[in-house]
Amino acid sequence: MNFSELGLVPELLRAVAEKGYDTPTPIQAKAIPAVLSGRDVLAGAQTGTGKTAGFVLPLLQKLDSAQGRAPRVLVLSPTRELTAQIAENARVYGRYKNLRTLVVFGGVSERPQIDGLRQGCDLLIATPGRLLDLVEQRAADLSQVRHLVLDEADRMLDMGFIHAIRRIIRLLPAERQNLMFSATYSDDIRDLASRMLKNPITVEVASRNTTAERVEQVAFKVPKEHKRHLLVHLFESGAAGEGAWHQALVFTRTKHGANRLAQQLEAAGIRAAAIHGNKSQAARVRALSDFKDGKIAALVATEVASRGLDIKELPQVVNYELPNVPEDYVHRIGRTARAGATGRAVSLVSADETGLLRDIERTMRQSVPVLATPAFKIVESRPAAAAGGAAARGEVNRPNASPGNRAGSAPRRAGHGGRPGSRSHHSGPSRRNRSAF
Ligand code: AMP
Repeated sequence: MNFSELGLVPELLRAVAEKGYDTPTPIQAKAIPAVLSGRDVLAGAQTGTGKTAGFVLPLLQKLDSAQGRAPRVLVLSPTRELTAQIAENARVYGRYKNLRTLVVFGGVSERPQIDGLRQGCDLLIATPGRLLDLVEQRAADLSQVRHLVLDEADRMLDMGFIHAIRRIIRLLPAERQNLMFSATYSDDIRDLASRMLKNPITVEVASRNTTAERVEQVAFKVPKEHKRHLLVHLFESGAAGEGAWHQALVFTRTKHGANRLAQQLEAAGIRAAAIHGNKSQAARVRALSDFKDGKIAALVATEVASRGLDIKELPQVVNYELPNVPEDYVHRIGRTARAGATGRAVSLVSADETGLLRDIERTMRQSVPVLATPAFKIVESRPAAAAGGAAARGEVNRPNASPGNRAGSAPRRAGHGGRPGSRSHHSGPSRRNRSAF
């Protein structure tokens, strides 16, 4: 199968060829003809499957050329990063079509977005909250929307956007095509689909675990307080004899935890940056581009910030803390093994997280092998305030203290079985509230 068999016009085929795609991915092979047919579509697909082109290409074709001021395609997506990536795809695939794409998301000034809407666009890619704000200010006119896409619908519901989505839908013309993409099917998703979609074509590329199956998953048991030392070891020596890690995307549960870990990694001499919802858009973009350019080795992210990140050839994902919701694990590990590649997901599991690991295994119907924890050094550095400076170059490590000794520290080998030091892990329950993301 090649793209020309899917009924796409030459302008789009040319852009696709220039992007370097030879063959449509399974979701594209199914979704593109379905969207071109004009029917509603319910697609089960994760980020990483090529789903964006699966709806962007046929919608660009349907719009044909620029017209009027109000958008005719509205794509709702959960995060700024995903929104920006969809728009970037629309611009790349649509480069030989005369169409205008506009993005609208929160966390940045509204002014340029309002100006953009005044000038007019054909495709509007938006996060629901900011779009509603702009509608309320009468800056966005949704009366001409003929095609609605809910991308990563499950995540939008998880993030509490359901009311905003419903309000937006009420503002749209009744006569329109609806496309819904979701990696998982909860009852809420089914409910939304049954309200929104009329006689949809269902496109299911495979079970939602397909990506997971291409990812080599391993877990290490490690006391909570030693996780960062093990992580440093993994960066320096690898998880299974593969040698030093070039790069990894590391997940923490909280923004604060992401900041702290990024500082600790820097203090251990590993270039790191944190990406989460409290960072400015500029800081997030910088961290992401530094990571993509290889300037930093560890991108420490919270769940939401990482959603939809498209980073090519990402070999490792680390679950520094396991997510409370098993589906989040599937999304996280989907950051590696993208578009046919293979990758690895390494989970650092403390005693209080073993229940979470079991839940994850049950959800995936797949077990995650627990490997013997490698020996690693406990190297304490100065507290976070010092990180980034001398500490980042590892100059402040002090020898000869037990791992339990806060002030300092010994480059020290772990005991056998991966229990570094005699101090046991008295980790209490640590299921943190998801609202802390
Ligand atoms: P997505 O799931 O839409 O985020 O896409 C995941 C990645 O796959 C992106 O880096 C795309 O550029 C890439 N991609 C999409 N379609 C294809 C294709 N047909 N062939 C190769 N790579 C693709």
